[in-house]
Amino acid sequence: MDRIIKGVCFDKKARISLIDVTEGARQGVLTHDMSPLSAACYARALTVGAYINANLKSKTDRFNLIIEGSGAVGKIYIASEDGDLKGFVEEPHADLPLNNGKFDIEGAVGSVGEMIVVKDLGLKEPYIGRANLVSGNIADDYAEYLLKSEGIHSAVALSEYITKDGVQAAGGIIVEALPDAGEDVIFILEDVMGYFTSLSKMMTERSMEDIAEFYFGHLNAEIFPAEPITYGCHCDRKIVDVVRSLGKEEAEDIVREQGCIEISCDYCARKYRFDAKAVDALFKNGKNN
Ligand SMILES: [Zn+2]
Repeated sequence: MDRIIKGVCFDKKARISLIDVTEGARQGVLTHDMSPLSAACYARALTVGAYINANLKSKTDRFNLIIEGSGAVGKIYIASEDGDLKGFVEEPHADLPLNNGKFDIEGAVGSVGEMIVVKDLGLKEPYIGRANLVSGNIADDYAEYLLKSEGIHSAVALSEYITKDGVQAAGGIIVEALPDAGEDVIFILEDVMGYFTSLSKMMTERSMEDIAEFYFGHLNAEIFPAEPITYGCHCDRKIVDVVRSLGKEEAEDIVREQGCIEISCDYCARKYRFDAKAVDALFKNGKNN
């Protein structure tokens, strides 16, 4: 099961998170029939999303992460509802030549664009943070976002191991300096990234607890129990409202012209069909528009 392990290190001046989204990335690949390159971009965004989600205060809080790059994979959307994560990429079949034997994630996402995070924390207005993309590898872009938009110094490593048989491992490590961290911690953070090479390969061989110990054991780390990462789309609860929002007249027009109203969910690819009878019933036993 996918999990996030949180902890603190550097005398509690930094927070660490180890994130495993292997199952979620696999699920996404199956649902959207993603190419390996699209899957790699998706897995990275999903890791960031899992991190944002795990740091929301309440289960009713929600977020949207939108990576709006100029590359072949198009926009990437990750969101949560009731604690469950979901997501998709605009172009699931992106394909570019390997770059030095690796997926060209920078090329697929594109280095020109924006990362946008919207958090609905149950307040009047949602929180909206945004930062320009800096590299397109999503890791540097999220670190830049944290600094520019939330004033947090961090080290972000995202890693995926994808073979022709699919996603073998995907996840990441995010280290955030806490507000009372001094220059020294921030300096170490910049350095620490070099440690996290081949993380996803390691994830196929060791538990996340082992990896936490391996990377942070010597840094006076305190590691907390893992929390599960869950996935799901709850569009079925809202689909009727989507049809209602068309209004009775327009809904009936569509049925007349096309035989039925068909809606498919971008996140989970579920398809909904409302024929004349269903539309009729929908506007009869509810609000009129
Ligand atoms: Zn859905």
